[in-house]
Amino acid sequence: MRTVDVVIVGASLAGAAAAKRTVDAGLETVILERKELPRHKICSGILSPRGHRFLLENFGPLPRETLHEPTSCRGVTFHFPSMVSMPMDFFHGTTPHLHRKYSDHWAIQRSGAEVHDQTSFAGLEEKGDHVLVHARKHGEPVTYRARQVIGADGPSSLVVRAVYPDYTKQIPWFFVGQKFHEIIDCPLSSEYFHFWFHPGLGHYTWSHARDGRQIVGVGFKRGDNFAKKHAVVQNYLEEKHGVRLKPAGDDHEGCAENFGPSLINRYVFGKGNVLLTGQAAGFLNMIGEGMSCALHSGAISGEAIVEARLRNRPVQEMYRRMIASEVRRCSDQWNPLKIAFDKPHEADFPEALMKLSWRERGLVLRDMWNFIVLFKEFKWGRQIAGAALQRPIVGGYSMQRWL
Ligand SMILES: Cc1cc2nc3c(=O)[nH]c(=O)nc-3n(C[C@H](O)[C@H](O)[C@H](O)COP(=O)(O)OP(=O)(O)OC[C@H]3O[C@@H](n4cnc5c(N)ncnc54)[C@H](O)[C@@H]3O)c2cc1C
Repeated sequence: MRTVDVVIVGASLAGAAAAKRTVDAGLETVILERKELPRHKICSGILSPRGHRFLLENFGPLPRETLHEPTSCRGVTFHFPSMVSMPMDFFHGTTPHLHRKYSDHWAIQRSGAEVHDQTSFAGLEEKGDHVLVHARKHGEPVTYRARQVIGADGPSSLVVRAVYPDYTKQIPWFFVGQKFHEIIDCPLSSEYFHFWFHPGLGHYTWSHARDGRQIVGVGFKRGDNFAKKHAVVQNYLEEKHGVRLKPAGDDHEGCAENFGPSLINRYVFGKGNVLLTGQAAGFLNMIGEGMSCALHSGAISGEAIVEARLRNRPVQEMYRRMIASEVRRCSDQWNPLKIAFDKPHEADFPEALMKLSWRERGLVLRDMWNFIVLFKEFKWGRQIAGAALQRPIVGGYSMQRWL
């Protein structure tokens, strides 16, 4: 059995950021990753300005091999059923278009942690002053003894299930899938990530250029049919936007997404010496941007461990106090009062709206409302309104709602 200070589950961005903090503080840190590194990760790779700053400040400039073609992204274009399109540039210029297979591996290497890949987390036992972590490497059981464990293993986290066995039944699950097409003709600008607020297409519909092909992606409540949903979107793009694509290659892919906890301030941060971070904890920004909050929350989880040791305080107490700032950043993005009266996002939606005619503004607001109605069945409305009203009164979001 290997004894270390910290075990981190998941060699992704949250894991890299957490490891950077614990390694810098001199803690012996091992990262467990179930896949062989460098590993593939389904993602558009559009990095927000805040995520970009984090990578620069903590890991340095990104090498060329960590980027897709086009190597950068200017911002996001929203499209509406009324055929209004709103391009919005990121604040402070373009950001890198990450190739997650290589960018994540680069960040993990630069964290300085020891990495055990092809090692799957399988379970844990809280022992009071330490945690036993059970994993499998090439099918063989391996055990680690750690003072603290960080679960940074993404949306379908097994660490979350180990700590809260019923949690996955308490939240709605979505499926997001994307197909890759050779391009015949594509009038959508390759400089932007394109997103459709269209209830007839799905809960999350997007398209963008990557390495000479066009990605067409669709997200919906789990249980629907990916091929059918994708075909509807592809036809729509051709009919309405003149996007002519060849049939998709056979490298299509998809995964389950835990979209929702950040909207309603229902994060899961762990128990005892086990901390949860990144998307495993529920962090996901507007239009599914999850890298910047994975990086920041990951770093905070690592810092919390360092601080708890220095101050001889329980690590959960420290983490929950410190993570409140990232909860504000993330949940503000979904807060209607913040959206109306502040600028919680990293591209200027109000400015783009004001560039439209009065008629177009009316159409956009009507289309957005119709899109929001699509989410009615999840009964988030009251919870979002409650959190929005609480935000100015207590200066944040209630910790009582976190697990
Ligand atoms: C289709 C799609 C497009 C997206 N596009 C964007 C985008 O353009 N911009 C953006 O900011 N965000 C995007 N996101 C969201 C973003 O990818 C995630 O929010 C972000 O990667 C979360 O980071 P993380 O470190 O928390 O977890 P993840 O990136 O999910 O990483 C978890 C890691 O844990 C490993 N792991 C899982 N289970 C185990 C186990 N049992 N044992 C050991 N290791 C394990 C996984 O292999 C993985 O390496 C997109 C997501 C999807 C699905």
